Amino acid sequence: MYLERGIKQMNVKLLKIAVIFMIIALISVNILGCSSPENQTKTAFFMDTQIDISVYGLNKDQFDSLSEKMFDEMMEMENIFSRYISGSDINRINEAAGREAVKVNEETIFVLQKALEVAELSEGAFDPTIAPLLELWGFGTDENRVPTSEELRKVLPLINYRAVQVNEEDSTVFLPEAGMKIDLGGIAKGFIVDRGRLAAEKFPVTALFINAGGDISIKGTKPTGDRWRIAVQDPRSPEEWAAIIEMNEGSVATSGDYQRFFEEGGELFHHIIDPRTGFPAGNVSSVSIVAPDTLMSDALSTAVFVLGLEKGLELLESLDGVDGVIIDKQGKIHVTSGLVDDTEILLQGGGRG
Ligand code: AMP
Ligand code: MG
Repeated sequence: MYLERGIKQMNVKLLKIAVIFMIIALISVNILGCSSPENQTKTAFFMDTQIDISVYGLNKDQFDSLSEKMFDEMMEMENIFSRYISGSDINRINEAAGREAVKVNEETIFVLQKALEVAELSEGAFDPTIAPLLELWGFGTDENRVPTSEELRKVLPLINYRAVQVNEEDSTVFLPEAGMKIDLGGIAKGFIVDRGRLAAEKFPVTALFINAGGDISIKGTKPTGDRWRIAVQDPRSPEEWAAIIEMNEGSVATSGDYQRFFEEGGELFHHIIDPRTGFPAGNVSSVSIVAPDTLMSDALSTAVFVLGLEKGLELLESLDGVDGVIIDKQGKIHVTSGLVDDTEILLQGGGRG
């Protein structure tokens, strides 16, 4: 009898423990299985910049796995496109200039063809063969300097996107002249951000925001239903906002004279070079482009920056689904017709140098 009671008591105890375990298991499933209404964020540093991602609609495990996948894929792409990484596609193409065609990844063919399209569209203001000029100015290194006119004269004939030979069938690229070099710094980051966004397609993401140093991709709406508000920095005081663009899905990229520059003889020289003169481009301080994909907004922001205010606005107005906010050297803000209703101007400069 005592034994029987002992067994019964043990059963009750076991039952209690089992119930407690079940409750814990249910709570855990609830926490891990339910998507969070809050956004989850992660930051990484590569491509010489800070990359932030913010995602709505995933539980923690899903978010961890997505962010790892996104960053991995984006880094993999950087290893293909960076001309500074030995063995990258672009590095090998440049090394073989004047000698032989180089077999490359399909992504390189794709991005290079897009770069050549934007070069055509902008009548050579955007030119992916700009690298020899960048080297003269020391952009991409720690040693910047203003080149002599003799140096510029020698290098300018090498800048010629029309000479690039892309063979889609063989997946090869050939630069016909020794000394020619490709640089995809004005377009590759946009493509890489698009790649990150693509990685999220396999996850039940409700909204996604990627920002790679000003190259931004947005997907979906926030749970509040609010539109995304993208701040455009004031080029003369980048910690302040000059304008806000309100948007739903799509991409924004900004090219600015305040992003990379050096000073010599009391003058500032920035990193966006006009292929026709060999000097830092033109008459604007900042160009933000809104487009369906980041590759296009990135390439066009650089292209329009080189084209300058009038020609830049003209190009933007001629393209479907593409808009822009341009801040000129005086701090005046210009907005294309498609964005007028979606842009809040915070700082309308005038007379500022
Ligand atoms: P972004 O910041 O997107 O405007 O790109 C600037 C980068 O594009 C520079 O750091 C260079 O790598 C590259 N670049 C500079 N000038 C040009 C140009 N005229 N055409 C194409 N790429 C350029
Ligand atoms: Mg760009």
